[in-house]
Amino acid sequence: MNPFDLKGKTALVTGGNGGIGLGIAKGLAQAGANVVIAGRNQAKNTAAVAEIKALGGRAIGVVVDVNDGAQVKRMVADATKAFGGLDFLVTVAGINIRKPPQDYTSAEWHSIVDSNLTSVFECCQAAYPEMKRRGGGKIVTIGSMTSIFGFNVGPVYAATKGAVVQLTKSLAAAWAKDNIQVNSILPGFIDTELTQEARRIIPGMHERVLARTPAGRWGKPVDMAGAAVFFCSPASDFVTGTALPVDGGFSSSMF
Ligand code: NDP
Repeated sequence: MNPFDLKGKTALVTGGNGGIGLGIAKGLAQAGANVVIAGRNQAKNTAAVAEIKALGGRAIGVVVDVNDGAQVKRMVADATKAFGGLDFLVTVAGINIRKPPQDYTSAEWHSIVDSNLTSVFECCQAAYPEMKRRGGGKIVTIGSMTSIFGFNVGPVYAATKGAVVQLTKSLAAAWAKDNIQVNSILPGFIDTELTQEARRIIPGMHERVLARTPAGRWGKPVDMAGAAVFFCSPASDFVTGTALPVDGGFSSSMF
């Protein structure tokens, strides 16, 4: 038996149409899973599905705004119908707005909390009945270095990413009896559209990340795939409620 084999299983990846989500979706497909790519932008969904099919994987796209609870329920129903069940949920969709704490509007606070935290809870809630019906499942959430460290120009983002880890632990404790394992990946600094924007706004950020990361480089979306495959595979059947930094050593080193 290959403990990392995902053949015949189905994964729903929110935010799977780009960046970290696409890196994870490709990894899950290469390990044998059918993949449902969920994002707002249909053209990005279609392109991501094509990339996965080009690797020999099976994938479909679902257009969804994860901030809308009704759309989240429909997304899970569509994903379940597409390949005859749902085994894995990976909640990658997220946003940030960078500014000092005193400058946030109430609307900005709510938009980040809705996108990064409420949506994660609602996706997990929506997926739970189908996973329970199937006798088990795997949920992977995405935290951040800001699940551990504060972020002077990302206080709301950091609050949501800290909360995602606590939510992960609570869901793990509640659903262990249903054979559902819930774990979190904490990416370090990964080269995506999100961080390209951050590098435009924060002077010297690129170099500071390089200097602070023992591995001496920015991460790539593909670097997140191995941890996601592990958390979705039988290899992690006795692992639940954990938060795994995948960060080139960023969180374990003073300098
Ligand atoms: P990107 O901006 O490249 O990707 C964000 C993804 O989220 C897109 O696929 C986007 O799809 C989707 N998305 C955002 N809002 C919604 C929404 N309301 N409904 C549906 N989909 C949505 O970012 P990254 O790949 O960098 O980040 C992905 C996740 O990883 C985020 O949760 C982020 O916080 C986290 N992270 C990133 C790090 C990094 O260094 N890059 C470090 C630590 C954590 P669409 O455009 O179609 O809406």
